[in-house]
Amino acid sequence: METATVRKRGAARLRSGHPWVYRSDVAEASGEAGDVVRVADRAGRSLGQAFYNPRSEISLRLVTRGEEPVDRAFVRSRIEEALAYRDSLSIDADAYRLLHAEADGLPGLVVDRYGPYLVLQVGSAAVERRLDWVLEALGELAGPEGVLLRGDVASRKREGLDTGVRVLAGEVPESVVVREGPVRYRADLFGGQKTGAFLDQRENRAAAGGYASGRVLDVFSHTGGFALHAALGVPGGTSVEAVDSSGPALEAARANAALNGLENVTCTRANAFDLLRERSDAGERYGLVVLDPPAFARTRRDLPAARRAYKEINLRAMKLLEPGGVLFTCSCSYHFSRELMEETLREAASDAGRRARVLEWRGQSLDHPEILTVPETRYLKCAVLQCP
Ligand code: SAH
Repeated sequence: METATVRKRGAARLRSGHPWVYRSDVAEASGEAGDVVRVADRAGRSLGQAFYNPRSEISLRLVTRGEEPVDRAFVRSRIEEALAYRDSLSIDADAYRLLHAEADGLPGLVVDRYGPYLVLQVGSAAVERRLDWVLEALGELAGPEGVLLRGDVASRKREGLDTGVRVLAGEVPESVVVREGPVRYRADLFGGQKTGAFLDQRENRAAAGGYASGRVLDVFSHTGGFALHAALGVPGGTSVEAVDSSGPALEAARANAALNGLENVTCTRANAFDLLRERSDAGERYGLVVLDPPAFARTRRDLPAARRAYKEINLRAMKLLEPGGVLFTCSCSYHFSRELMEETLREAASDAGRRARVLEWRGQSLDHPEILTVPETRYLKCAVLQCP
């Protein structure tokens, strides 16, 4: 079997419970992209087995600390374990993540369920090579009507994989209507964001619905996820406005509102920064404001600008709250840490002259597990603040 020897820093990282070794921490390695290799430290002590790809910045991704063969049965048992965990969550929805890559012990593989269909993202050469095993296990354990590969992810380029979208098994429709608690929405499986929807916000959308009162403003609404839950959360009377800069996203939001028989949802196409400033200057007031922006900090270098942007939208949003109003504010930038977010919100509250009561700190839905020893698996943060 091929082997890789890792430098001190790589070994320490693996021993800390993290599965990644960067190329610069690999001393020596044999094998090629997609191989499973034995990993050892300089003294020859075994650290486990990893997916190897010399082309990738993260050259080794640990799959097991043991010596067992990484074969068909191994892949199946990892998938079985991931599915059993989701079953234990009693998820009140039929679109959610079944397998979350490293967090479920299969680096580079994401499996999302949309009703009877599965959508995969494969971001490692090793999983790509073992796709037959994955499909066989998913076929037996989940019994999908169709399986789609969303190959249009950046990680595939880094691993030297092609970037097409293709059906791997059965038949898959362009889009499908799924249920999320009391809400139904249409997910565009072939062309939508990620695998068709932002599933990591599922629990937060439901929670936000519970905070809806008075007028509701859902900013960075995309296809209206938060807006729909808010509109159903306040039966009758309330008006909910979804704001996004994307025309197609708002078109989908309108269709979703109709799908749920909602007449109190309006959609506004605007730049969120401009709209929030205009509305706060005009003295508008809301009972609930949701902010779910795209990742402003994709790398560490983006942090200063990202911080200013987060501060600006949160400051405006706080000004928009009526007394007792709630701000449900999110950040999905891993680099913008929970601590940094807290500091930024503190500055925003102080500049807005509002006292902000912390009702909750939330993270991504539990079907996107956060692993304590893998900080990168904690990326989505939401603060729920009430301004008296
Ligand atoms: N809340 C959504 C996901 C939001 S994704 C959900 O739960 O499904 C972020 C959204 O922000 C995208 O739809 C994108 O079109 C929008 N966006 C990005 N920059 C924007 C800007 N400056 N103004 C308004 N919308 C913006």
